[in-house]
Amino acid sequence: MGALNKVTVSSIYVHAPFCSKRCFYCDFAVEVNSSDNLSAWTRALSGELTAVEREGVFAMSEAIKTLYVGGGTPSLLGPQAMKGLAEVIGYSRLEDPELEWTAEANPETVTHDLVESWYNTGVNRMSLGVQSFDTQVLTWMGRLHGPDGAFQAVNAIKEVGICNLSVDLIFGLPPRLKRCWRTDLFKVLELDVPHISLYGLSIEPDTPLGRSVRDGSEFPVDEGQYRDEYLTAVELLRAAGYQHYEVSSFSHPGFASRHSSAYWDGSPYLGLGNSAHSYSESYRRWNVRDWGAYKALATGTGITWGEGEHLDLASRSLERLWLGLRTASGLRLEDLDDPQRAILESWVQEGWSVLEDGRVRLTAEGWLLLDRLTLELDGAPVG
Ligand code: SF4
Repeated sequence: MGALNKVTVSSIYVHAPFCSKRCFYCDFAVEVNSSDNLSAWTRALSGELTAVEREGVFAMSEAIKTLYVGGGTPSLLGPQAMKGLAEVIGYSRLEDPELEWTAEANPETVTHDLVESWYNTGVNRMSLGVQSFDTQVLTWMGRLHGPDGAFQAVNAIKEVGICNLSVDLIFGLPPRLKRCWRTDLFKVLELDVPHISLYGLSIEPDTPLGRSVRDGSEFPVDEGQYRDEYLTAVELLRAAGYQHYEVSSFSHPGFASRHSSAYWDGSPYLGLGNSAHSYSESYRRWNVRDWGAYKALATGTGITWGEGEHLDLASRSLERLWLGLRTASGLRLEDLDDPQRAILESWVQEGWSVLEDGRVRLTAEGWLLLDRLTLELDGAPVG
């Protein structure tokens, strides 16, 4: 691997891997029922960060713009978790008045004390894993909150003063659950939060769900139901005043996720914690996935990145197309060549995209085909 230019990052992702229980469908790098606590987590992050600073490929900006603490369940680490993290990163780096500091939480772990302590440390945005309001569905998923859990958590968060709040919902569940998607969408509107993210259920092979599909005890959703649910959500959330600003993301004006937008813009970022990825324009690397292995490396040499890759021109171009097409800003027509523009004309005919103000952006129908359309555009014959 050749020498890398130092890149200064102002977006940081931190992974908190702990969960009380693994959800039925979950393929994230999580550690269930770990005896490790906040001090083990911050000690490991501190070891990693020291090594990152010594290496000099990624340098943290003196004024971080976005900090996202995801998981796992960061809220399992308790009220002092963000204070511990701020000490690792350095309070002075977290003083920019524009800083967006997001922390994820699961409803059953949200308490007034936790939110108040996080807020006082600087957290100004929270993301809640709600997924559904249906008792049977939540039980099937292995979630630990009930149908009222999201309401109680949202109230606690708003009471403390954090109004920049996002909730996640999952669609595309197996039909035998008889989940009423519209009911869940109306419930999420009742929460009155400024940001909603929707994820289609993905069946990963190494999960209990993946194994159940293999042995025939569960059946994946068909494409028609997936499509209908996505389009229903788009229609309903738009009618309720949300802007559909990215394939999975809806927000009230001014509440788009700035951290995610940095990913989609191609800005460099640093990831800390097991399985976290770091990225600069021409290079990407990722930490070892397993928490135990990560902790041993982080508190030893500090070198926790397992693998990395240089991004050649072809893969950078593909990534630029995919990231651009997934947002409502789309791609600039002047950055595309004639064969690619010819493809766009056919997309417009199909209702998959619109061309306006010198840009192409996908419609909701087009976003259902995002991966396919990106490959089509990338594979356009060279003009
Ligand atoms: S709470 Fe989230 S991260 Fe934890 S197991 Fe469930 S889906 Fe995975």
